[in-house]
Amino acid sequence: MATGEEEVRAIWKMADAVCFDVDSTVIQEEAIDELAKFCGKGDEVAKMTKEAMRGSLSFQQAFARRLEIIRPQMNQIRDFIRMKPPRLTPGIKRLMDVLHQRSVPVYLISGGLRGVITPVALELNIPLENVYANRLKFFFNGEFAGFDENEPTSRNGGKGEVIKLLKKKHGYGNVVLIGDGATDLEASPPADAFIGYGGNVIREEVKSKAKWFVTDFKELVDAL
Ligand SMILES: [Mg+2]
Repeated sequence: MATGEEEVRAIWKMADAVCFDVDSTVIQEEAIDELAKFCGKGDEVAKMTKEAMRGSLSFQQAFARRLEIIRPQMNQIRDFIRMKPPRLTPGIKRLMDVLHQRSVPVYLISGGLRGVITPVALELNIPLENVYANRLKFFFNGEFAGFDENEPTSRNGGKGEVIKLLKKKHGYGNVVLIGDGATDLEASPPADAFIGYGGNVIREEVKSKAKWFVTDFKELVDAL
């Protein structure tokens, strides 16, 4: 067993709360890329996403630029959710059910769009107040008007900020964060443990730095 993995497994067993990244973790794709494709801006935005993941842009810059390219209207978001609903990652429903049975609170913390994540949370029986994600703003006629820059998830280090807030608000001692990306990895600490997830996409940096890295949520159910 890799160094540190045992420690993460121990925290996992006694977690007070579990936070999940959404894109490429709870769902199989990067929702903003899918939305871009839906709006005919797929290639431009995919390029920007790759750049952002390499870390050459701040999260907020990359997020703002991608949205500026897409400029989604309110009705496009609605049509997107109806016609291209996010696909849940295999095994996630079972894992969520097991956590709920054990009365472990679950949070979704995403640098993506709240409007797209809401149906995912509903499907997984996660209360909407446990969803931390970015809010789009629209003009009265439904045209894109930017995003709420006050949401911590729109900033670098935002996931860590949310976790700090949750720990303070609820007094959690053992918070586990599960995700595929570098922004998830960097949120531990404040998360007490991080579990890398590579079932949809494997990011080498995350795989090499995560003390515990899994590619199947079943491993997490079995380890409880
Ligand atoms: Mg992700």
